[in-house]
This record gives sequence, C-alpha cells and structure tokens, in this order.
Amino acid sequence: MKDKLLLIEQQNNALHRLNEIAAISKISPKETLRKALEIGRQYFGLEFGIVSHIVGEAYTVDVQSSPPDTLHDGQLFALGLTYCKTTLDIDDVLAITDVTRSEYVGHPCHQELGLISYIGAVIRVDSKIHGTINFSSPNARQLEYDQIDDEFMRLLARWAGSFLERQSTLDELSFTKKRFEMLFENNASGILLVDKDCNIIMTNKRICEILGYPRNELLGQKAKVVHIDETSYKTMKEDFLKIKEDAYIKREYQLKRKDNRHIWCEFFGSPIELAEHDTGIVWSILDITTQKKLRDMLKLHATTDYLTGLNNRRYFTSRLEEELSRIKRDKKRTTALMMFDLDHFKLINDSLGHLMGDAVLKRFAEVLKKNLRKTDIAGRIGGEEFAMVLPDTDLEKAAVLANRIREEVIDQTTTVEGEYAHLTVSIGLTLLTYDDFGFESAFARADSALYLAKKNGRNRVERSP
Ligand code: GH3
Ligand code: MG
Ligand code: MG
Repeated sequence: MKDKLLLIEQQNNALHRLNEIAAISKISPKETLRKALEIGRQYFGLEFGIVSHIVGEAYTVDVQSSPPDTLHDGQLFALGLTYCKTTLDIDDVLAITDVTRSEYVGHPCHQELGLISYIGAVIRVDSKIHGTINFSSPNARQLEYDQIDDEFMRLLARWAGSFLERQSTLDELSFTKKRFEMLFENNASGILLVDKDCNIIMTNKRICEILGYPRNELLGQKAKVVHIDETSYKTMKEDFLKIKEDAYIKREYQLKRKDNRHIWCEFFGSPIELAEHDTGIVWSILDITTQKKLRDMLKLHATTDYLTGLNNRRYFTSRLEEELSRIKRDKKRTTALMMFDLDHFKLINDSLGHLMGDAVLKRFAEVLKKNLRKTDIAGRIGGEEFAMVLPDTDLEKAAVLANRIREEVIDQTTTVEGEYAHLTVSIGLTLLTYDDFGFESAFARADSALYLAKKNGRNRVERSP
C-alpha cells in the first residue's frame, strides 16, 4: 500500500513536470518531447524512450532519448520488427517486464533487436493513429508493471497526442501568419499603417518604392514627411474624424517623394483597431501619377478647343445647360447669353491664308478671355463663332461689355510673317429664360440677334427681339 502511494506520488510528480516543460515556449517541440521521454525513462527506469511515427509498415523514430551512440532521431525500422506492432494490434498499453518470461518470447523485437523489457502505448493525433510512445531496455525490469504504470503510460500517450495536436495547430497558425505577412509585404499596393497621431507604424515594400524612402526612414515618422504641404497633411488628419468604424474612404493626395518629386496617389483607407480604444488607419496606396496625367489630358481634350484654349462647343453647351437649371431653381436669376461671329472672316482666310486666319481666331479669343469675369463662361462654338454666358447680368450690362469687346477687337492688329490683318465682330445678345428647356432655343434667339447685326452692317451689337 505504501509502495502504491509512493508510485502515485511519483506519477503525479512526473505529470507535473510534463506540464511544466510543455509550458516552456523557448524550447522546440522536438526538445519538449525529448524531455517528456526523459521523464518517462526515469519513471520506468528504462534506457530507451521513443516517440515514433508510423506510416504503413514504416516505423520512424520521431524523437528519442537514449544512451549515446545507440538510437538517433529519424531512424527507420520495419514496423514488424518492433513491439509497437503488437501495441497497435491490441490498441492498448503493452507492458513486458521480461520477454523471456512472457507470451511474447521469440518476438522479432526480442530476436532481432534483443530488447527484453518494453512498455508502450498508441499516440493519437486528431483521433488518428500517429505512432507510439514507448520505453524499452535490453535488460529485464526488476519491478513488475502494474495498473498504475499502465495508467501512467496512457496518460503519457494522451499528453504526447494533445501536444502534437496543438503543435500542428500552431504550425498551421504560423503558416497562416507567414502567408499574411507575405501578402502584406509583397502586395502590389503600397500599404501604410498610421496611428491616430498620424505616426507611420507599418510599411510594406511597395510603399517604400512609391515614396523612394528606405523603410527605416519612414517608420516612426509623422506622415507629414510625405505630404507636399501643411494643408494636404491637415486634410489627411481630418480623415480620422470622418472615418467611422467599418467605414472606408477613398482619397487622392499629392505626395512628396524623398527626391522631392511630387506624385499623385490614390488612397483607400479603413480603420483598424491597434489596441483597445486605439484606432489607426490602414491606407492602401496606388501611384496614379501617369493615369492622372492621362486623365487630365483626356479631360482637357474633351472640354477644350485646341486652337484657342477656350471651352469647346460640347463643354460650353453643357455649362450652359447647368446655368439653365440654376435659372429654373431661381427665377430671379438674370443671365445673358452673347454670341459672336467674326465679320468677313472668309476674306481674311482667302486673301491672307489659313495661318493668318488661325492667328486672328487666337487673337480674338485673347480679347474674350481678358474680358471674362470669374463666373462667366466662354466657348468656341463653331469655326469663327464664339459665345459667352454671363450670370447676374442683364441686357444693358451685357451690351456695355459687348461693345467694349467689339471696340477692343477693332484696335487689334494680327501680324503673320510681315502681313497684318484687321478684324471686326458682330454680336447678338439675349437673356436666358425660365422657358428655355435646352440651350438650342437660347442659341436660336442669340443667333437671330446676330443675324440682325450682320444685316444692319456688321461690327454691331444687337439684342434679340
Ligand atoms: P460673315 O461676315 O457673314 O460672317 O462672313 P464670313 O466670311 O465670316 O462667314 P462664312 O461663314 O462664309 O465664313 C467662315 C469661314 O471661317 C469659313 C471657314 O473656312 C473659316 N474657318 C472655320 N474654322 C476655321 C479655322 O479653324 N481656321 C481658319 N483659318 N478658318 C476657319
Ligand atoms: Mg459664321
Ligand atoms: Mg463670319
């Protein structure tokens, strides 16, 4: 009875030590298992301890604890040569105190390997057989194995199984973590993680390329370092207030690279919890400098007349439509429309050539631009036809401006290769009205005023009847 109590105490001690070593995260899984084997060897008083992995008929020594130059990790045996084959067959603890005095006498493990004493149990990982944990010796064991030993062996096998199970979960976790790290680091977008004070706390490879900075010169810096000015930085800081949980914002910022080159970047931001009550923003960033240049160029082509730099017909009429909808919302609004047609322009072309014709068109456009107020919109609506929308302007005021333009045009001389040209312009005026459903009706009224100006001798301003 006293011996039994002692054994139970030993067993408890051994289990306690097992739990202790499993908690030490500094040692590798293999070394943890080896320590467990040492505890088992001491407990049973046997020379060899093995955690085996069994696949088919192959028995591999996963980890061993044994006297020097006997066993080594990775050593392979035919399963049939081992007592473990019998352990698997009975699927329980196999305990042999002295094989010569047991039913297993003549077992291949006895005959071939000369092992006399053995105790082992099956290790299951995720309910599948992984292998065995076993202890053995070429000598007979002094003490007979009893139920307490069997129980301890089962506990050891269960401990090893759950340890390996946890380990494979950890392996998977660290694999997932590595995969995410790889995704972050090698992402095609630049990634910048900033805290609420706009300190840069994480960067990936791409953002360093985009900004031309080595990583260590970005980390810990205020994001201000990459902004072109205080205003741009302030806008980014204000995004913190706008960005709510689960929100997502899209921005375009002009940034400054380390070499001082300015680039355009598209930012996609979402909040990220850095710690409790501490939110940061993770910015995914694309360098869109080339696209933006292209976009700006396309926009320019789509809206601007290449010769004069004024709005082209399409863009001008769309702006005119916008003004018409404003008039519909606000009936008190008074907006004038002015239409210009250069006088005898064909004659200039025919007598002085197209180059002179173009130069005259440009010169006329300059006069228009000079007389534009901030809210006015001017456009080239045809070959030598121009128009202007003048918000908050009645016909009287419009006529004053029209006559000023007309007189300035008379004063101009356009010179090309020693030749010079004089020009006059006819101008038709009308008001945009609440009844104009589209620009066409307003255009038609201005056109009829213009026709009147031509009819009455050109170089004149006329109002629509
Ligand atoms: P009116 O006083 O009645 O307006 O006579 P006009 O000669 O100005 O009128 P018309 O419509 O007969 O002629 C306009 C000319 O403008 C014909 C066309 O060749 C010329 N033109 C149109 N676009 C351009 C351009 O981009 N460059 C040049 N050089 N000429 C152009
Ligand atoms: Mg014309
Ligand atoms: Mg003309």
